[in-house]
Amino acid sequence: MPRFAAGVVRFQNDVYPQKKELFEKLSLGQSPEALFITCSDSRIETAMITQTAPGELFICRNAGNIVPPHTNHTGGMTASIEFAVAALQVPHIVVCGHTECGAMKGAMNPEGLDGLPHVKEWLSFSKAAVDVVNELGSGKPESERMDMLLEQNVILQLQHLKTHPTVAARIAKGDLTLHGWVYDIKTGGVNAYDETQSKFVPVNDRYAAEVARHLSDHDCAA
Ligand code: ZN
Repeated sequence: MPRFAAGVVRFQNDVYPQKKELFEKLSLGQSPEALFITCSDSRIETAMITQTAPGELFICRNAGNIVPPHTNHTGGMTASIEFAVAALQVPHIVVCGHTECGAMKGAMNPEGLDGLPHVKEWLSFSKAAVDVVNELGSGKPESERMDMLLEQNVILQLQHLKTHPTVAARIAKGDLTLHGWVYDIKTGGVNAYDETQSKFVPVNDRYAAEVARHLSDHDCAA
């Protein structure tokens, strides 16, 4: 039996019984806090890094955490975004890139992708981010250029998100917030884009005001 199939048996025997109430409640519906868009990379464990439980994140994953700009052509990302934003009414969308991203390495060196025609075409949705790095990062070491690309790709995909009508309408209404993150596989660090500073800062700093407000609300309630 493959390890992951044996894992199902262990889940049913050891984990499910302890969380039976949660799963029964979840069978009645979902109300996730965020649409979480990240890379398919096996090293990203979304529930672990956000410490969320089933039902809290609506997740879309693909190579390179890419959001194709809206067109009238129906794709899996477009349909999933529409469902999460218009039907589930998620209040947040996170685009989360990550270090050591194979897709972004491919985007940087597309000549190595000739045997992977669909990957090559898919990564064309990151081309503007590569162009920014070639412009602003010329002469810089490869690792710095890659860090730059991870961030620029997240910023670009946030822009693409805004071309989706359901996203644009909710932003106009003021009840949908977009977040751009980069997760560091080696250190566990997560940096978040701060629009006011136009740069990525540690998640702890980016959300300091929200954390403080949450704590003071808690004081008021107590
Ligand atoms: Zn990746």
